[in-house]
Amino acid sequence: MTDHIMQEILANEYRRHRRNIELIASENFVSKEVLQMLGSIVANKLAEGYAGNRYNEGCQYVDQAEEIAINRLKQLFDCKYANVQPHSGSQANQAVFLALLNPGDTFMAMSSDAGGHLTHGNSINMSGKWFNAVHYGVNKETDLIDYEEVERLALQCQPKLIIVGHSSYSRNIDFKEFKRIANKVGAYFLADIAHTAGIIAAGYGQNPLHYADIVTSTTHKTMRGPRGGMIMSNREDLFEQLDSALFPGIQSATLMNIIMAKAVTFSKALSEDFKKYIGNVLLNAKIIAKVLQTRGYKLLADGTDNHIIMIDLRNSNINGKLASEKLAIAGITCNKNVIPFDSRPINLTSGIRLGTPACTTRGFGIDECKQIANIVADVLDEAQNTNGEKDNVAIDSAQKVEAMASKFALF
Ligand code: PLP
Repeated sequence: MTDHIMQEILANEYRRHRRNIELIASENFVSKEVLQMLGSIVANKLAEGYAGNRYNEGCQYVDQAEEIAINRLKQLFDCKYANVQPHSGSQANQAVFLALLNPGDTFMAMSSDAGGHLTHGNSINMSGKWFNAVHYGVNKETDLIDYEEVERLALQCQPKLIIVGHSSYSRNIDFKEFKRIANKVGAYFLADIAHTAGIIAAGYGQNPLHYADIVTSTTHKTMRGPRGGMIMSNREDLFEQLDSALFPGIQSATLMNIIMAKAVTFSKALSEDFKKYIGNVLLNAKIIAKVLQTRGYKLLADGTDNHIIMIDLRNSNINGKLASEKLAIAGITCNKNVIPFDSRPINLTSGIRLGTPACTTRGFGIDECKQIANIVADVLDEAQNTNGEKDNVAIDSAQKVEAMASKFALF
């Protein structure tokens, strides 16, 4: 029997995909080939353990897939070890905690308001409940990581692990400097590149694998693959520990359909086309940032080096929640975001996070990004000028957005 309700939801979500402009920085649109792997019969296969050493029979084909995925990932990031089994970025990070720390140990990471992730020691997350998380933030004037402050904190709290990585920091990170600080205090160094993995894979900026002991990431976002996680390293003494921390430490059976989709993603990320795509992601983000600034909007860190643009509404009469809701009326999907030194509560926030991976996949270029940024500014101007009470511009903009989106196919 067909599940009509789910079929209808799927059709509605497909229409939303097509009609709206997707600016959530952590979303992207996967290729048909990735979707094919995700929805394939491989989803049926139970494969517990690692390729060549499974607890179940019948793994000869999925073993090949996992080995290929690992080799492609090693090539992509120039590393000796890769684990493609984490079900998510969060589980990749949990495996690192299990491999390196004991409950109660101290580690350092970027605070959530400065851009760090939930799994970097937030008090409501296991990482913050089971370990002693010490957080560094950003400089109040520049919104940038203050490396001297990181060093001072590290000397003071003597962490066993230092994490760098973010969900909402728009500038480059100096992995080499973090390595120097970690070495100085004898800490392990983890780079969580969940957001920027695609940018790094395409050869833009420092490769953290040349400095960090361990690198974790998601495989979606800028990587444009299935939702999932991965772990990489060049520290031979940690390879076995990492494997066993993930399985059997925190996960059991693999999701082989997702691993096959990851393999396809890695192969695509090795191509020249992907380098071009990432070049456009970066260019589009710079264009949106520039137009918003010209229209009088303040951006965190005064702009962007990556795919993220953070609008700072601390001095505005509208909060991040209201702003993102108004943009949603216009058909522009983004999210409210807590920002450094935010005086508003977490359910309102003073930030809006925009990102260009998805709209660039859709085919948007310089002209479209200028138009999008102007629509964002028009909608936010209306919200500010009317204290959020009128939606005329937002409603009119929805037609422009749909017209623009309809010119670009999803695949
Ligand atoms: N680490 C960072 C920096 C992230 O931005 C995210 C995703 O939001 C994660 C980890 C967690 O990834 P997932 O949602 O796959 O658990």
